Amino acid sequence: STSPAASLRAANDVLAPNDLEAWWLPFTANRSFKRRPRMVARAKDMHYYTPDGRAVLDGVAGLWCCNAGHNRDAIVSAIQAQAAELDYSPAFQFGHAGGFALASRLAAMAPGDLDHVFFCNSGSEAVDTALKVALAYWNVSGQGSRTRLIGRERGYHGVGFGGISVGGIVTNRKHFGTLLAGVDHLPHTYSREHQAFSTGEPEWGAHLADDLERIVTLHDASTVAAVIVEPMAGSTGVLPPPKGYLQRLRQICDRHGILLIFDEVISGFGRLGHAFAAERYGVTPDIITFAKAVNSGTVPMGGILVSSRIHDAFMKGPEQTIELFHGYTYSGHPLACAAALATLDLYRDEDLFARTRRLEPAFGAAMMSLRGLPNVLDIRTLGLVGAIDLASRPDAAGARAFEAMDRAFQEHGLMIRITGETLAVTPPLIISEDQIGELVDKLGRVIRAVA
Ligand code: PLP
Repeated sequence: STSPAASLRAANDVLAPNDLEAWWLPFTANRSFKRRPRMVARAKDMHYYTPDGRAVLDGVAGLWCCNAGHNRDAIVSAIQAQAAELDYSPAFQFGHAGGFALASRLAAMAPGDLDHVFFCNSGSEAVDTALKVALAYWNVSGQGSRTRLIGRERGYHGVGFGGISVGGIVTNRKHFGTLLAGVDHLPHTYSREHQAFSTGEPEWGAHLADDLERIVTLHDASTVAAVIVEPMAGSTGVLPPPKGYLQRLRQICDRHGILLIFDEVISGFGRLGHAFAAERYGVTPDIITFAKAVNSGTVPMGGILVSSRIHDAFMKGPEQTIELFHGYTYSGHPLACAAALATLDLYRDEDLFARTRRLEPAFGAAMMSLRGLPNVLDIRTLGLVGAIDLASRPDAAGARAFEAMDRAFQEHGLMIRITGETLAVTPPLIISEDQIGELVDKLGRVIRAVA
């Protein structure tokens, strides 16, 4: 009989053209992909390897999630050991030690009194969980009129109905009906005129938070449940928060008793040099969502961290009563928890968050060296995140970025991510200074190639 490793290799190696038909890929140009697929077969540390063995430098930590790098031995062993010991355990009325250990560990890493964790399986589920908990909190607290949710233009909060309703990406919203009622949006925080080529937090834009006052005045605070923002908007082209913006949002929420939710699905676990962006900005929200890098992308997992005030408001009534009618079959899955515990050990033992802070200036300077290349309209960097806006080809919006992403992978051995006409890089936090040089060099060559 063939070994699992051998059959895996076989699956990678002998895909016939028709084998590409059945899988409808998410957020993908499927027809073009199937003509010219971008396939990976293996990964280790900073690299993917194609089925024919070509090394591809991972410029995006998979999908902003593999922050510890790929196939790290400690994480692989932890998943294997957990699978052999306890494969699955229901979290409805039952528990297992790994889930409790991980929740305590996360609570200790979170700011303020965000001391309670509700697990789910993705960023989208984390967002919908956060919105539901916010609404239910006001209900159990006797302020059931607080039902309005406020998101932000250009926000990305996953693809659940809650997430696309508070999100601000027209393409993710327009085909899906009327969405959630009672949602409003803050203006986005990007201005090329005032912020172009900024490293770190732009000086201009804190005043945009004041629009929350206008929205609250329009609807009355007694109808507003929560505001949700990404501390750094990632998926719409990397929009770092203007200096003072998040602090101002917190002040306005406090003034009106509105809950503040930070969607930290990409900013969590070191991407901006701290366990959470909340720490970088010294702003404590009432709820934090997380996913992705909690276990370096190895097993699907998401969750929310909630304040004791919110959690405790539910803990009343008869003891045998379920306090929150919400949850998922795979909430706190043992494999995901084991992977997360091993990942958090790696982050700590290799000091990867502080390392990110140390690398940030060199990374920012390297990215800015691409200023002046053909079609480069703006470059933004923050933590280990970089984005480059390219000028659109007049005949085909998005085509230049698409070509850059495709050529980077096929011809230059580099994986990047694109949204609209923006190229984004968010490498694993283990990247070396030499590899930063290599990444930026490859990006430069790609940008010249598509000019
Ligand atoms: N929220 C933010 C800020 C994200 O960036 C993402 C994904 O990129 C999500 C939510 C959705 O996460 P998932 O794709 O795991 O559902």
